[in-house]
Amino acid sequence: MGAFAHSQVYKDPSQPLEARVNDLLSRMTLDEKISIIHANSKFSTPAIPRLGIPTRWMSDGPHGVREDISTDSWDPAGHTNDFSTYMPVNICLASSWDPDLAYAYGSVIGQEALARGKDMMLGPGVCIMRTPLNGRNYEYLGEDPFLAGQMAVGYIRGAQAQGISSCVKHYAGNDQETQRGSIDVEMDERTLREIYLPAFKAAVQQGHVWAVMGAYNRFRGTYCCENDYLLNKVLKGDWGFQGLVVSDWSGSHTTSGSVNGGLDLEMGTDGPYHLDHMADPYRDGILSGKYTMASLDDKVRRNLRMMIATHMLDTKPVGSLNTSAHQETARKVAEEGIVLLKNKGGLLPLSAPNLSSIAVIGEDGFTKFAYGGESAGIKAFYEVTGLEGILKRAGGSVNVTYSPGYHIPTWRPGPRRLGGVRGYNQGPPPVPPAEAKALVDQAVKAAKSADVAIVFAGLNHLRNMDTEGSDRRDMKLPYGQDLLIQRVVEANPRTIVVLISGGAVEMDSWINRVPSVLQAWYPGMEGGNAMAEALFGDINPSGKLPCTFPHKLDDSPAHFTQAYPGTHGVEYYEEGLLVGYRWFDSTHIQPLFPFGFGLSYTTFAYSAPNFSVPRWPGPAQVSFTVTNTGTRSGTDVAQVYIQPGAEKLFRPLKELKGFARVSLKAGESKRLAIELPATAFAYYDPSRHGWVAEAAQYKILIGDSSRDIKFSQDWVAPVEYFVPEGPIASPTPSQIALAGNRSGQ
Ligand code: BGC
Repeated sequence: MGAFAHSQVYKDPSQPLEARVNDLLSRMTLDEKISIIHANSKFSTPAIPRLGIPTRWMSDGPHGVREDISTDSWDPAGHTNDFSTYMPVNICLASSWDPDLAYAYGSVIGQEALARGKDMMLGPGVCIMRTPLNGRNYEYLGEDPFLAGQMAVGYIRGAQAQGISSCVKHYAGNDQETQRGSIDVEMDERTLREIYLPAFKAAVQQGHVWAVMGAYNRFRGTYCCENDYLLNKVLKGDWGFQGLVVSDWSGSHTTSGSVNGGLDLEMGTDGPYHLDHMADPYRDGILSGKYTMASLDDKVRRNLRMMIATHMLDTKPVGSLNTSAHQETARKVAEEGIVLLKNKGGLLPLSAPNLSSIAVIGEDGFTKFAYGGESAGIKAFYEVTGLEGILKRAGGSVNVTYSPGYHIPTWRPGPRRLGGVRGYNQGPPPVPPAEAKALVDQAVKAAKSADVAIVFAGLNHLRNMDTEGSDRRDMKLPYGQDLLIQRVVEANPRTIVVLISGGAVEMDSWINRVPSVLQAWYPGMEGGNAMAEALFGDINPSGKLPCTFPHKLDDSPAHFTQAYPGTHGVEYYEEGLLVGYRWFDSTHIQPLFPFGFGLSYTTFAYSAPNFSVPRWPGPAQVSFTVTNTGTRSGTDVAQVYIQPGAEKLFRPLKELKGFARVSLKAGESKRLAIELPATAFAYYDPSRHGWVAEAAQYKILIGDSSRDIKFSQDWVAPVEYFVPEGPIASPTPSQIALAGNRSGQ
């Protein structure tokens, strides 16, 4: 106990976390307890000076530390010291398939949060990409629960190792923005457990995240922030979550629902704050005997765990802001996340010495995106645009021209916070046809007289697409960009399209004619440099799609079934387990670009597969050799899928269960070994409340996309394996510290 008296256990950092929590709790009055489970400003809970508890500050997330917001309105606070590093968006991070890079990403977030005085960062988001239209797909980690989970675990460990809390969101079923504040999401239990929950479960059990944000929507009739099943039964019961559940901002609706439904911290409810559902009404209910002190104590304990674990009662670590290391990480994520979708005839990479002119076309090449998307927007220290990156890289000898090609309507915020939904939904005003035609003509002229045309095409992240509060209306490129691309490639067959978007857009009207396409997402403040590096071959693209790109919207499951966006306020997920490639592969609908797909400037060959299960139900060992068969260094992401055989319950055709990045010099080979736990073969059986790998035949598939399977190996599990859904032992602080050192599983 050192220099601390026994009476100050909670102040002694050498004491176990739980001892500190209990000691502090025992000293708190009812009013003090109530005070820390609801807001006292938009992003804080109050200090209790008597006990040395400071104000707790939260911030969005997830792509940097958001600008400071006024304490009592949604307006910016007007500070001059609230810039941050603007990281590539999370879907770009997911495209790297690199949990170690996610760890580095999280470390930047954690460092900058400390430097900006924040204790809890609201992110990452792990809702599954169910429809290409979801306005927040860019903030999430793709369509596959395993990939999203592994990336989230890396991110959270990196962030929390710095001494702050992450907050994984939005739990659960917040897979669209349309009617997000009210839609009642209905799905069967297997779909919930196998598709929509695993990334949250990984965040809790592997990432040891200290906070989970309840979503705005309802699930099976009850608001997620008051949902006994999701919060008490699954999260805290089945998974043993010890941290706190915070409401999405104004996602709490009633006192009894919040208290009994498992909410631990109410944020964002319109003031005055003492009237919040979990403020005076809760205190009064305790005094009248309606609610128990034990349940309040549980909520307070969860808040105190987060506070003590993030050193709020001790000396906080010192953070750092906008360092060259942070900039380097931002750039690396963009470099690894950019996906080369097409490169016919080897138009890319460009060679500056062999070029005399480049026509850069498209307002997206000139636009800064940091502020886009609403709560995930960042007041960036700087942002390098695509055009700036090209100008810098091409050098003085290449004549670079720029023409806008189309016009993006400027940003005009709509009314905020309509029942938990922000009003950014208005469509773009039409560009007068004559003006639009003139822009295209000018671009075509520039393309014709240049060696190469580079079209930056994409969505309006600053307004009504790829933004919180509204979904896209369709999958089309807006503002006549399809026509622009068609005309540009007609004028100059050496045309490259760089797509700036948070997800798939329709490309059928031009994809066969355009030789080279890069998916750059929103690549962060170093994005322009990273895009130029990819275009000129300073890096070799290695990103792989974390989501299927369909030819057209109706091919994708929630639209094929017409379940989206729900009827009369209810949305039944009719496609069930068949989300993303699980749908496309099981129904044999040809996607435009499959899940896991991404080209490189080199080529890879796979050989000598080996599969063994030394002891069942122990981990299965998959190994194989990857060889770089091209002429330059490159990185591939090898993927292992399980294809189940005939089993009692229906299963998707294949499911991703392992992956590994491998970097190889030209001609080099490496042997990869991927271990699959017995659960990788299992499905969730609701009647047994657990995971079952039947004694059945499976195929183990090795490939580099869900559609490019190099080897398939049959294997029969000798006996059934069953593991009940249940908590793992909660980690000790030293285990957490240890886990913070690496991102693996
Ligand atoms: C968003 C959350 C965000 C919160 C605070 C909500 O509208 O859904 O993701 O963390 O606002 O800004």
